[in-house]
Amino acid sequence: MIARTSSRRGIAALVLTCLLMFGIRGEAFAAGPEELQGSLPATGGISIAVWNGGPVARLRAAALERGCAVSSIWVESNGGLIGYVPGAPTVVNQAFTAKYKVGGFPTPTPVLPVGTAAVLICQASTGPARVNGMPSTVSFTIDAGVSTTDETWIRNGSAIAEDYLRNVYGGGLTALDSIKVHADGTGAAITGAGIQATSCSTTNVGIVNYSTTHADWIAAGTFVQPFGFDPRVAVPAHEYFHLWQIEVGCINTQIPSWMTEGMAEYLSFQAVQRRDGLISDDQRRRYEYYGASGVPSSATLQSMETRAGMFKYPGSYSLADLGFQQLLKGQRAEAMREFCVDVAGGKTWQTSFAARFGQTPEAFYTAFEATRSSFR
Ligand SMILES: [Zn+2]
Repeated sequence: MIARTSSRRGIAALVLTCLLMFGIRGEAFAAGPEELQGSLPATGGISIAVWNGGPVARLRAAALERGCAVSSIWVESNGGLIGYVPGAPTVVNQAFTAKYKVGGFPTPTPVLPVGTAAVLICQASTGPARVNGMPSTVSFTIDAGVSTTDETWIRNGSAIAEDYLRNVYGGGLTALDSIKVHADGTGAAITGAGIQATSCSTTNVGIVNYSTTHADWIAAGTFVQPFGFDPRVAVPAHEYFHLWQIEVGCINTQIPSWMTEGMAEYLSFQAVQRRDGLISDDQRRRYEYYGASGVPSSATLQSMETRAGMFKYPGSYSLADLGFQQLLKGQRAEAMREFCVDVAGGKTWQTSFAARFGQTPEAFYTAFEATRSSFR
């Protein structure tokens, strides 16, 4: 299982209202010697690249890191070219999948050998330039030792979340927030915490700390192969939504932990899927079901109302996201913000839950637990 530590006591002593966010889970899979060589057109176009081997899903993630959203991949075969179009019907990719063995879990894609030369058709991606739209009130502090790749993931994930808030909720962050990225794991709020990110609220000021040297952050990069996407884009979005929760009143001890975390998890995937198209519905579903299957059925969603219950199993994040997806079925997206505003204004969470989501928590829990068996 995942190497995720949860020593929370040190944090509570430092900043009372800190939340701990993990947002990463899954098993650590061995990463291959993956490297993509060649110039990739970030504004879209054709590229000839050499791939150091591994699944097409990983190649696409590597290309996206470089600004190329791969729409198709072509390789030489018997004097001609055969192509692979991600997401296309089986018949389209038949020649390609006949040539290469297909592997990777849970979304198998063709595995290309070391040194494969390929023609990549790139679409303009939402690369680092996305950061241009960040509010001036949000500051980034990046330690000198942080790699460009890690910085890019964190800036992009944050910007994707900001973009989502502006387009879906009509406005992004307005408070003074800071996002700090540490390479040595000694950021003030996370000293000794053994975690990779925290968001804290002191007088409505949010802080997210990342430790890119932490094993959890490093391990996130190895999840690409089994799931076909890199969770490191969703984690910063998840943390950014916690900053938003601080602003709109969702960070409230009255609100169940699974709702706070499930909302951030839900929004982060919604935002990444909307902006990048990098994660398909199916990939997300598999990822969440995989995580949720690691939570024993004896640990109900209701038991995750408390922080202790929420953080007991790494897969609780997936379960909370699945819970939120079910809760929001047929609801307006605004309902979750209204719920937070209600509770911040003094209503009980149970009263607001019933008013905003049209069912009591008890009725919702009963219905949700009845679907749990399908997560396995
Ligand atoms: Zn979180």
